[in-house]
Amino acid sequence: MSGRLTPSIDQLVKCLRYLPGVGPKSATRMALHLLERNQDRAAELAIALSEALTRVKRCTCCQNFTEEELCAICSDPRRTEKQICVVESPTDVVAFEQTSAYRGRYFVLMGHLSPIDGIGPREIGMDKLQSRLHEAEVEEVILATNPTVEGEATAHYVAEIAKSLNLTVSRIAHGIPVGGELGMLDAGTLSHALEGRKSLL
Ligand code: ZN
Repeated sequence: MSGRLTPSIDQLVKCLRYLPGVGPKSATRMALHLLERNQDRAAELAIALSEALTRVKRCTCCQNFTEEELCAICSDPRRTEKQICVVESPTDVVAFEQTSAYRGRYFVLMGHLSPIDGIGPREIGMDKLQSRLHEAEVEEVILATNPTVEGEATAHYVAEIAKSLNLTVSRIAHGIPVGGELGMLDAGTLSHALEGRKSLL
């Protein structure tokens, strides 16, 4: 693809390919579309991305994305503090919230354990989760990491911490395709997965 367009367009195409599911062809089409017909929108996009990068940070309580100290879920007094659903990414929180089936809190690990890539407990905030689980209100931990090898290993790690604190531990299972990603599931499937969670004790 390189060399056929200008260096700046090549760079833009390269960046658009960072997006999930975008290959060289669609990245090129997007880049040319923005420059050819939609320059105002393209500028808007550039500003929105830059603003989001500056303003969005992690919630000090659950590591979800927020622009305040606490995210909207952690600062909502109607959500029970008894349940903590542990997920790998803010996308999973969005997926669960779309089901309206869950009224507890979350902890967003921002990834999974992957020793081969140098990602250990510290890198994904496991120490923060551990101190969160020590809080008196917490009774149940729902493990909702992805059903991949790394996701299972991460769930196992969290389960051990939770069990050592005598908390109820469950793992969502029903209807989740092995190797899949929670963020890709429809609300119905995810809602069933939550209801059908299995106790790990
Ligand atoms: Zn939060």
